[in-house]
Amino acid sequence: MLRDRQSEGGESAVREACGVFGVVAPGRDVAQLTFDGMYALQHRGQESAGMAVSDGHAITVVKDMGLVTTVFDERTIACLPGDLAIGHTRYSTTGASEWRNAQPVFRASGPAGFALGHNGNLTNTADLATQAGMLPGVVTSDSDLMSELLAHAVDQAGPDASGPLGGGPLEAALRSVLPSLRGAFSLVVLDEHRVFGVRDPHGLRPLCLGRLGAADAPEGWVLASESPALDIVGASFVRDVAPGELVVIDAAGPRSEVLWPDGQVEPHLCIFEFVYFARPDSRLYGHEVHGARRRMGELLATQRPVEADMVMGVPESGVPAAEGYARRSGIPYGQGLVKNRYIGRTFITPGQTARAAGVRRKLNPLRENIRGKRIVVVDDSLVRGTTQRAVAAMLREAGAAEVHLRVSSPPLMWPCFYGIDIPDREQLVAASQSVDEIAAQLGVDSLEYLTLENLVAAIDAPGAGFCTACLTGSYPVPVPLPAARGDRAVPASPVGA
Ligand code: SF4
Repeated sequence: MLRDRQSEGGESAVREACGVFGVVAPGRDVAQLTFDGMYALQHRGQESAGMAVSDGHAITVVKDMGLVTTVFDERTIACLPGDLAIGHTRYSTTGASEWRNAQPVFRASGPAGFALGHNGNLTNTADLATQAGMLPGVVTSDSDLMSELLAHAVDQAGPDASGPLGGGPLEAALRSVLPSLRGAFSLVVLDEHRVFGVRDPHGLRPLCLGRLGAADAPEGWVLASESPALDIVGASFVRDVAPGELVVIDAAGPRSEVLWPDGQVEPHLCIFEFVYFARPDSRLYGHEVHGARRRMGELLATQRPVEADMVMGVPESGVPAAEGYARRSGIPYGQGLVKNRYIGRTFITPGQTARAAGVRRKLNPLRENIRGKRIVVVDDSLVRGTTQRAVAAMLREAGAAEVHLRVSSPPLMWPCFYGIDIPDREQLVAASQSVDEIAAQLGVDSLEYLTLENLVAAIDAPGAGFCTACLTGSYPVPVPLPAARGDRAVPASPVGA
């Protein structure tokens, strides 16, 4: 129950971190398509939205704080002619939530300049800035840093430079800069003639390729963080961009190459994309995410059976797993809570008491469905426990005879350094307490988390690799834990499925 935490009184829990989109459709204005694609990726970031459009001569960037529909309207879109574009929806995990950090970032460099949108988080930002001779504070975000490095590399390469994919000076610059980056990055980059897509060699954040038009007569090509952004613009899913792959798309179509050598490409897609970041209709590792979430519930039901009268999901992210739990256990599925759809996301109230009040503003019990029943409540994750404690109290006040909490992911114990905003260990309830202690603190009769083995089994992608660092502490890319986290340096320790 993480996606809506912003409306729960400003709780800084796990949140998504950016959606990226790119399109090349020769002869067709693409600003409306880009708007639609960004709209489909709104769940990945709601702080700012922006797009960069090229008409082959000049690049125009429009970006601002707010939702996609706040930043763009018909008039804005009509003022953005051009047949190639990139778009970005942002949630800040590094860099302040302010206009100057909104993306795409633009740099005047080479013939016309370029624009860049980033999903992820670099782990060697400070080293890169130092190596490049930048003074502290000069760059304010990863995208800012990458664009500075690229601009410098474009200038160094010169206007006649290019790479084997025919991507001009920007391709040459990407080839020189990308190998120095560490961490998570799914990038879309645009110059006046091309859109580039890049995925880091661990493939920590998703990126997929789609096609507009028929396979034998393509009318354009699309890059997107998640496949629903392809659906909404009428593009067919072609494939995931591979970890370590650079894709160059121009009027002639896409060309690509894996830039990192074999030994450095180790797929570790963020396992929490499956648990709750990605939309349920997204396709990852060949499956629709909703099916994986339902299977998580099914396996959860087998782990610790309980006698009960009704299974319910915490709206809305706990619902698919609750459906799976009900199906496997044979306990009827029912609705126990109604969610206020109009709750504002800007509702900021610090502190646990205020957060609990925020939960009550958002969720209200269906008393006749609950009264006298033994209830299994399924949620997708447990961070501080604020939501679950408030929900348990609400259900008991509504007359529930018993409340059994089931969580469709393992205990969250470690912070994320790859672009997801997970609180420090001190705030992660599972980092310091046993399952029984947490159950007592939440006021539930029993508590069970899905095991990591069952989570991987539910995803059903044999041989696929996952990042599970926030569950296991095994970070696929080495991360220096800063003193602010109150922790030690963590060595690299890849975890695969
Ligand atoms: S640490 Fe957790 S949230 Fe971050 S990328 Fe890895 S699995 Fe995803």
